[in-house]
Amino acid sequence: MMGAELGSEQQQVVFSVEHCEVCGIDNKRPFQKGDFVIKRSGKCPKCGREMMISAIYAEPLVKGTQ
Ligand SMILES: [Zn+2]
Repeated sequence: MMGAELGSEQQQVVFSVEHCEVCGIDNKRPFQKGDFVIKRSGKCPKCGREMMISAIYAEPLVKGTQ
């Protein structure tokens, strides 16, 4: 059987998206332990206010790029 992906290890990278309600910008960064949606996290690079995590998601780790 060729072409079956089942059983192969699929690594994933988890990201958190920080959102500034003042500037409306989003900042994607690697997930850190304790992160959850609506958590206050980090400082906005533009206005310096606290940002809020608006989303957490996982992406498949694509090997061979960069
Ligand atoms: Zn801001």
